[in-house]
Amino acid sequence: MRKGLVAANWKMHGQRQSNADLLDALTTGLKESPGVEVLVCPPSVYLDQVSTRLENNKIMLGAQNVHSQESGAFTGELSAPMLRDVGCEFVIIGHSERRELFGESDSFIAEKFSAVQEAGLVPILCIGETQQQREAGETEVTVLRQLDAVLEHAGVEEFKNAVIAYEPVWAIGTGLTATPEQAQEVHALIRGRLAEQSEEVAQKIRILYGGSVKGANAAELFAQTDIDGGLVGGASLVAEDFLKICTSYNS
Ligand code: PEP
Repeated sequence: MRKGLVAANWKMHGQRQSNADLLDALTTGLKESPGVEVLVCPPSVYLDQVSTRLENNKIMLGAQNVHSQESGAFTGELSAPMLRDVGCEFVIIGHSERRELFGESDSFIAEKFSAVQEAGLVPILCIGETQQQREAGETEVTVLRQLDAVLEHAGVEEFKNAVIAYEPVWAIGTGLTATPEQAQEVHALIRGRLAEQSEEVAQKIRILYGGSVKGANAAELFAQTDIDGGLVGGASLVAEDFLKICTSYNS
């Protein structure tokens, strides 16, 4: 039985005071265990603040990005050991905004995946098709290409300690959500690909859905067989909305 996970991707939002207010509201709201693991991924400059604030708290901490190297002359970058050092347990990699706006390739993302694993952290590998790719009937080929790049580089065993997030690019921040059936279809495809190499990994791995998840649609999405939680952007910045999503998991 896979334990659900709901992850908040704050993206480039927040300041010290608003972070503190949001965390206080989440901590209070999650006192009654929602039956799901909860993770927040703040901007890197606030990781330390959030880590301190979450001490002795069951909400976990993740980063939004990482470099593939452990250290070195990479101005402006952060390594996986640094993220572990400030208390992170998870790292989002391959987010479509990184792929599209910062030109990150499948192979660079595959290197990051291994770097995160080597540091003892859990990568959340984001994959998903654009609107154009979906309309051209290329959803399957796109998602599998992104997954295979990491599988070939890292091997299926490394997925024992990983999370995958299926995030159709056309649904991110647009208000458009994949229907539960559309999402389930791709989640099953992803799990099936892993099962070709390891049934054990395929059954164990958590596959999150991301793309305009809200309180109003979360329960239906989370009810799908292969959807093990969500990666939430916009709605994770409003405590009430995010809490509603978390509590939707087992509703
Ligand atoms: C995201 O950025 O990972 C995301 C899913 O954003 P939103 O929930 O705002 O669509």
